Amino acid sequence: MYIGLDDTDSNRGMCTTYLTALIIEELQKKGIGLVDYPELVRLNPNIPWKTRGNGALAIHVGKIREHENKKKRIGDRYYIYDSKEECSAEEVFTVVRELVEKHSCFDDEKTNPGFVISEKKPSREFYERCVKEVVELDEAIDTLKEMGASYKGYKNERGLIGATAAIAYTPLFCTYELLAYRESIGRKRLVDNVMELDRRFPETFDNYDYENEHVCITPSSPCPVLFGVRGTSPELSGVLEVLRTEKIERWIIYQSNQATDEHLTKKRIKEVKRHTSAIIEGIVKNKPEIIEGGHVLFELTDGEDVVTCAAYEPTKQFRKVVMKLMPGDRVELYGGMNKYNTFNIEKMLVKSTVKLMKNPKCCGVSMKSMGKGKGFRCEKCGKRIMGEKEEEERDLKPGFYEVPSCARRHLSMPLKVMLKAEAKPLMKDLER
Ligand code: ATP
Repeated sequence: MYIGLDDTDSNRGMCTTYLTALIIEELQKKGIGLVDYPELVRLNPNIPWKTRGNGALAIHVGKIREHENKKKRIGDRYYIYDSKEECSAEEVFTVVRELVEKHSCFDDEKTNPGFVISEKKPSREFYERCVKEVVELDEAIDTLKEMGASYKGYKNERGLIGATAAIAYTPLFCTYELLAYRESIGRKRLVDNVMELDRRFPETFDNYDYENEHVCITPSSPCPVLFGVRGTSPELSGVLEVLRTEKIERWIIYQSNQATDEHLTKKRIKEVKRHTSAIIEGIVKNKPEIIEGGHVLFELTDGEDVVTCAAYEPTKQFRKVVMKLMPGDRVELYGGMNKYNTFNIEKMLVKSTVKLMKNPKCCGVSMKSMGKGKGFRCEKCGKRIMGEKEEEERDLKPGFYEVPSCARRHLSMPLKVMLKAEAKPLMKDLER
């Protein structure tokens, strides 16, 4: 039985991952257990109505008879069981409904919860569209009806889109996140020794932003999450021994599409619609400029169309790299089109840089050209020389450049993961 859940939290509190953890615990008490990792599925990061990171949740459960069939421990009280038996959809529906209605932030106008219970999975294509495009609610409901799923949406019911996408998700290339929750919400989070964790667990990523001296594993919102450690391996429980923290209320490991770049597809500029993501390639048209607010903008052309591209202020030092671009440079940009039709860059591959030519120097300053083929003259000492312009060394080398950890989008694959992924693909067995 698959359970999908979305849009229960708000900026003021709760977290759908926490609610999922409560649901798993309650089901376990009733002899219904996880048969696989719970899944934290990030969807289209450019959706204007997301609260934070557009995360939806899915769990796969079955009937468990005895504790002997525990297969793997994935949390303080959470296990994956070796169950092949289906459980009662009515029983699951009641547990999920009660907990969703007890804990969702119904007061927030942006919170529109939805949950789905189904024996079948929608096609992976439904998930792929939800991670890349904007999908209509009717489409999710039609999919649910076709599958004979039980579902419930609240308020404008938009949460049903994410809930359906979450159960449609099948991991191909995946990562994991250990989420620890706190007992006392509202206080400053006490989490220490993060750099030591980063050193000791090379399979983890985005723990600490060294450039900006920023701890990335703790959220800033008033939600129940104490910290979340992400890694390419599910063996993350060791981090609990290294981190020094306040009391942990519970912890659990999720499988996820975070850091997989699954939101990205190569497109021509004209194919990139608003609120969608893409990888676009082209030639830089003008020298990047800083505008008010510290954002860096330039234009890119693929020979047919032109798009304004941005490294926004929160991307910090990445903007300095973008500022080094020159007209004529060829780049591949990873990112998303926002509501202003500006392409928000998450990562950049500089494919080639143009040669820049400069006049020779004398007395510490550039000499003046006397006209084509007539040489140069120093305006300070009057010296004249014949010769050609010289090639200027570019301060930007071809290669990948990324935003710092503190500005990373959940779905964006860090270069650290990318390099490892190329060497060792994390292909999951699809026929589980
Ligand atoms: P979280 O806080 O868990 O990280 P979030 O709070 O930022 O996530 P939600 O509150 O879940 O995001 O709000 C996103 C809303 O957008 C949900 O109702 C979800 O169903 C909907 N949604 C997600 N992806 C799409 C999509 N591709 N097309 C249309 N609606 C979507």
